Amino acid sequence: MLDEAEYEKAYLLYGKAFRYRERKTYEERFKELLDYYREVTGVSETNPNAIMHHRIAQYGEPCEKCGKPYRTPRASFCAACGNRKG
Ligand SMILES: [Zn+2]
Repeated sequence: MLDEAEYEKAYLLYGKAFRYRERKTYEERFKELLDYYREVTGVSETNPNAIMHHRIAQYGEPCEKCGKPYRTPRASFCAACGNRKG
């Protein structure tokens, strides 16, 4: 498990994984997050969603455009940049 500050960092890495412009494989996109998680917890997790599960349940998915959380899982647009949820 991660504490608040660690979740914050992990969430940013999770959001970043969706914003790469280059073509990347799923593993490449989430590598930073998985590496970070292993560094902090010592656990080799391979499923990014398992790591972020609680955070996403609380704040919703990160925006595909700016990476900020949608605030709630039911939000229809991003409060930070106005992006409509796809
Ligand atoms: Zn946004």
